[in-house]
Amino acid sequence: MDIEAIRGDITAERVDAIVNAANSSLLGGGGVDGAIHAAAGPELLAACRALRRTTLPDGLPVGAAVATGAGALPCRWVIHTVGPNAHRGQTDPALLRACFRNSLDEAARIGARTVAMPAVSAGVYGWDPAEVAREAVAAVRDRTGTDVELVRFVLFSDPVLAVFRAALDDPGR
Ligand code: ADP
Repeated sequence: MDIEAIRGDITAERVDAIVNAANSSLLGGGGVDGAIHAAAGPELLAACRALRRTTLPDGLPVGAAVATGAGALPCRWVIHTVGPNAHRGQTDPALLRACFRNSLDEAARIGARTVAMPAVSAGVYGWDPAEVAREAVAAVRDRTGTDVELVRFVLFSDPVLAVFRAALDDPGR
């Protein structure tokens, strides 16, 4: 499995699946969630509403991941995951690692070979981007045996890109 980190806008990624830092309601929010819904169009919101009506009436739990279609986005699937919210006392790194691990497992389950991931919880949810990077890289390295061939971390700013590159350069993870 190739793992890389670039600076960019995840909505423009031409990969099989992009990961969304959603909230439990799955009904849209700000940050990367807002950007993904804006670029995908109403089809994505309709797919999320359908999940709420059927398999996820109470929403998506923190740390879990679920795939939908991608509407007008250039990818095929959006994998929604809910990061822990540090402002609500959700500070267990295992929850954050679970987001990345479960997103990758969901990608493998649906047959996605190339996956782009943002810095889940490093925005409004208040986690230190360096800690997000360490958990993300550890989670992905733990899953190198799956059929996913490429994981690309797509970061929105140079400082966040730098901490992801540092985590990737650390052989201990
Ligand atoms: P959370 O609520 O999980 O913290 P946010 O969307 O607020 O999620 O932020 C997560 C990360 O996504 C932040 O580093 C933010 O800068 C970044 N981000 C925002 N928009 C985009 C985008 N279009 N592509 C990639 N990353 C983005």
